Amino acid sequence: MMPWQLKVGLHNKREREKKYGPQVPKPLAELLPQINVSDLQVPRDHKTYIENISLRFPHLTGMKINRFMVSFFHSDRVQTFRFKWIKTNFGYPRPAFICECGSPVISLYFRCTNLACRRCTNAIYASQVCSRDKRPCLQVQRMHMFLKLKTGMWKSTRQRLETRITATARQELKSKRLAHHSIQIPSSNYCTRGAMHWR
Ligand SMILES: [Zn+2]
Repeated sequence: MMPWQLKVGLHNKREREKKYGPQVPKPLAELLPQINVSDLQVPRDHKTYIENISLRFPHLTGMKINRFMVSFFHSDRVQTFRFKWIKTNFGYPRPAFICECGSPVISLYFRCTNLACRRCTNAIYASQVCSRDKRPCLQVQRMHMFLKLKTGMWKSTRQRLETRITATARQELKSKRLAHHSIQIPSSNYCTRGAMHWR
């Protein structure tokens, strides 16, 4: 016999789907096409540049950029984002996109012919899908991938990072949703020098 909790749960689920349609899982941010502000050469001068970046970003047909704003041409429309220059402790300020919701962000995500911040696209990070005990596995997988991809690192730095990979955390992530290659690509440079050329 079916336990009553399951019966009630299934009934509620059916009612909810009748009302709102079937539940679609939120997209994973790591799997959406994205534009990181550091991938663009934001001009420091007062000129406006028109560039074709469709090789790097196949979803875009063109870009117009100056130090105050950037316009992306895609899906028969144009979306313009202003830049916010954020002060840093050392050196020149760094730019961030200002999303339509008003928040300054480093990455814009492409979903349903629209570019917006992660919150506006309703995406979640892979780490948010993980349960608390599986999150270290994801971290270790990313670190492992980082050590594979990163070249030209000091030997001592490599050794220091390798100690972070503990045997217990190297178990498999048994989730179909997280099996995608992009989920394991490290997004951090782990405080090392040199470009993250896999990005
Ligand atoms: Zn937003």
